[in-house]
Amino acid sequence: MAKLHFYYGVMSSSKSAILGINAFNFRRTGNKWEAIKPAVDNRDSDTDIVSRIGIRTQANALKNLEKYTPKPNTQFILIDEVQFFSPHDIEKLVKIADTTDITIFCYGLKVDSNGNLFPASAKLLAEADELHQMETVCEIPGCSSMASHHIRFDEQGNIIRHGSQVEVGASQYKSVCRKHFHKLYDNPCAKLSLCIYKRNLQKTK
Ligand SMILES: [Zn+2]
Repeated sequence: MAKLHFYYGVMSSSKSAILGINAFNFRRTGNKWEAIKPAVDNRDSDTDIVSRIGIRTQANALKNLEKYTPKPNTQFILIDEVQFFSPHDIEKLVKIADTTDITIFCYGLKVDSNGNLFPASAKLLAEADELHQMETVCEIPGCSSMASHHIRFDEQGNIIRHGSQVEVGASQYKSVCRKHFHKLYDNPCAKLSLCIYKRNLQKTK
């Protein structure tokens, strides 16, 4: 029985970069691997997984894993943005891990911008053999707590508390700690200050 790993964290916690480094090392050591990403994640490329620091990994973009079968001799499967798949897709991965020698590394977000678990991530938290939390600090200036939540905001800095869980792109999101999430999300009058918003714009240009 092979292992199913879930690396979870907020946006900008280096998940896609670590995936790319693993792919590089598998290539260097001659291991057979394949990478998958959800087709909905097409913000930077239709096929490649692109990390924020520019590491690119060629991947198979799939709508779901229903008809997915690993290639012969594959030893490792790397999956980016796994939260955009379904719990049913995660069951497929569990079956692959339980019936083959293929080790599976999943990378994704745990919670959405309303503080709720993504369904695929909930399934992975229940089923993965190993859980790995990717750490990064809260993006509110002066805060050194670990970021665990996301705040979504519009161009005026207003907090958005509705909408689909599947929103691709990080330009209107901030990764924040739990305390700052509730301070902003639970207060209907809260607004992201303009200086924080401008700093975010500069970062994403
Ligand atoms: Zn904070």
